[in-house]
Amino acid sequence: MSSIQLEKNISLSKFTTWRIGGPAEWIAQPKNIEEIQYLINWINEKKIPCNIIGAGSNLLINDKGIKGLSICMRNLKGIQIDKNNAIIEVLSGEMLPTLARKAAASGLHGLEWAVGIPGTIGGAIVMNAGAQEHCISSYLESITTLSLKGEYKIRKAKDLNFGYRDSLLQNEQLIVVSVRLKLAKGHAEKIRQVTTENLNHRLKTQPYTAQTCGSVFRNPEPLKAAKLIEEVGLKGFRFGGAEISKIHSNFIINVNKASSCDVRELIKHIQKKVFNSYGILLETEVKQCGF
Ligand SMILES: Cc1cc2nc3c(=O)[nH]c(=O)nc-3n(C[C@H](O)[C@H](O)[C@H](O)COP(=O)(O)OP(=O)(O)OC[C@H]3O[C@@H](n4cnc5c(N)ncnc54)[C@H](O)[C@@H]3O)c2cc1C
Repeated sequence: MSSIQLEKNISLSKFTTWRIGGPAEWIAQPKNIEEIQYLINWINEKKIPCNIIGAGSNLLINDKGIKGLSICMRNLKGIQIDKNNAIIEVLSGEMLPTLARKAAASGLHGLEWAVGIPGTIGGAIVMNAGAQEHCISSYLESITTLSLKGEYKIRKAKDLNFGYRDSLLQNEQLIVVSVRLKLAKGHAEKIRQVTTENLNHRLKTQPYTAQTCGSVFRNPEPLKAAKLIEEVGLKGFRFGGAEISKIHSNFIINVNKASSCDVRELIKHIQKKVFNSYGILLETEVKQCGF
């Protein structure tokens, strides 16, 4: 019998960086793979749906909450670094900033851009997170997944259909358990310096410590969503408790107890204004759950 705690009716607002979200019918935070297997058996016995949360830094959760079991992966931690071969094996709940710092400290080059992305490595793989012309899939060798039938599989990066903030994992119910990255050997001091500069740049150009989910919209390349939003005059525009950042217009800040509905209305308003001016429909990058 597993000792994992299954909690009922817990507010998911604590599990998202936006601090928005209603109750999970059930929630668990597994610390190891056996506990995930136990949870998979449990949902199959109960015949209830399952929802995966990483660090909740790219999630808008309905104030009405989510039915079934939410599995939050952020306690599934462990990093192994093979400096000689520049390989990192990591469990999916490790945070990207921790990973970027540990890679830098080990003199491994490749993750300097990732230091300011406040998500787990599992969420980063699903989202193909990136910054400054880099993305995580470029450094990925393979992942291990568990299906909701309890089947393990090692999947190579080339089989995951990565695109701009996109991967096959966004359409399949698979739990990313572990990740194998291939970096390059470099000069530790130089890597540390670039990593620190990247974080400092972010702190200056984004409302980094505010309650946000990062960029709400994908960039309609080669254009930038933030620039389009600014050009239609929406910088600082507010709906209910949700406000378009004055520092970076692709960020929506929860300034005063915003509801999921406030954010969705603001998203629709931005889409309408940008479409009416430029004929471009901005697509959301943020994942919406429970609507
Ligand atoms: C201040 C700030 C700055 C940001 N800057 C950037 C940036 O520069 N570039 C960028 O790409 N993103 C950025 N983001 C967005 C976000 O951090 C990334 O998308 C991140 O990769 C999401 O990881 P997460 O663990 O928070 O995933 P979550 O938001 O919890 O989940 C995202 C999706 O992944 C799924 N998921 C999560 N973990 C797993 C798992 N182990 N197995 C299966 N599915 C899983 C979820 O079901 C969901 O569909 C930023 C966010 C913030 C708040």
